[in-house]
Amino acid sequence: MTGPALGADVDGSQHYCTYSSTLSTVTCPQPAAWHILWNRAADASFACTEHMATVQRELTYYDRHPPHPDCGMPGARWSVAEKRCGYPADLAQRASQAAAEPVGSPS
Ligand SMILES: [Zn+2]
Ligand SMILES: [Zn+2]
Repeated sequence: MTGPALGADVDGSQHYCTYSSTLSTVTCPQPAAWHILWNRAADASFACTEHMATVQRELTYYDRHPPHPDCGMPGARWSVAEKRCGYPADLAQRASQAAAEPVGSPS
């Protein structure tokens, strides 16, 4: 059994705005400035600065953060606490590291 052919490493960190004025095709060519979580069912979109402004004027969303390379990847989860998307094991490790760091050590 063989997997899909893997090409050269590509930079998948650039996300693009998913705004659509026709509701069928994406009509905005701008790079995304925000990853938007619409609800707790994890429906999410990307928006450029201009369309984030439209969202803030006209819509209600649950959370947002600047795009991260893990955003939109299969298996990545939205972390409201960390303001990013990531894989569960990675997010858990980062959370435990943060908890283990002493806060305000006396000098
Ligand atoms: Zn846009
Ligand atoms: Zn994200």
